[in-house]
Amino acid sequence: MRKPFVAGNWKMNTDGQSSVDLAKAVASGASETAGGSVSVAVIPPFVYLQSVAQAVSSHHIAVGAQDVYFEQKGAFTGEISTAMLKDVGCTYVLCGHSERRHVIGETDELINKKMLAALGGGLLPILCVGELLEQRDAGQTETVVAEQVRAGLTGLSDEKLSVVTIAYEPVWAIGTGRTATPQQAQEVHAFIRSLLAELYDRRAAQDMRILYGGSVNAANAKELMSQEDVDGSLVGGASLKPDEFVEIIQAAVS
Ligand code: PEP
Repeated sequence: MRKPFVAGNWKMNTDGQSSVDLAKAVASGASETAGGSVSVAVIPPFVYLQSVAQAVSSHHIAVGAQDVYFEQKGAFTGEISTAMLKDVGCTYVLCGHSERRHVIGETDELINKKMLAALGGGLLPILCVGELLEQRDAGQTETVVAEQVRAGLTGLSDEKLSVVTIAYEPVWAIGTGRTATPQQAQEVHAFIRSLLAELYDRRAAQDMRILYGGSVNAANAKELMSQEDVDGSLVGGASLKPDEFVEIIQAAVS
């Protein structure tokens, strides 16, 4: 039985005070509505990780980072290591978010290095995959997603895979207000699960939490997350509104 998981990616938003206020509002709303039946994480900008982690430390809510570098230390100006993230209270880390793939230019090879580093450093990675609109229109969704999943998981043992989460986020649905239909999401999630069964085994595939992301809000969350292979959501814009984010967490309670 897969426990639902809802994570809020704050991207490059909030400031010192509003990040702590938002985290506290989410933490208290989440414990009232879901009471531990849903895994919840907030993913603030790096500079607010520590204060957010302190603000939610007495709640059932985890903190994640939006990115990590694969080297452990040294002359890598501007980068952040897994040990630094652990040190400030992080549990999760996003790897290969579409904005890092398509705005910053991260490759599958780099994302795989980050996945391996995250796991080696005791963080739980969330591998983000998803196709561009032109790729969907050209009928390439499965090819693109399969390549991203294969590449992202290269070199991961069965044991390491068991702590990975995958987020399917069609790029055309992120921040656009255009959500995949529940059927479109289910089709790709089922495809990813069958691919995992091929790459690993049926058990590993059944245990993997696969989140949907892309303009999830309080109105569409329930139907998306009630699909058989959709185990939660990775939420961007709506995670900045505490009441709406708590409604999405509530929608994940099965
Ligand atoms: C995201 O940032 O991963 C995301 C899905 O954003 P939004 O919910 O705003 O589309």
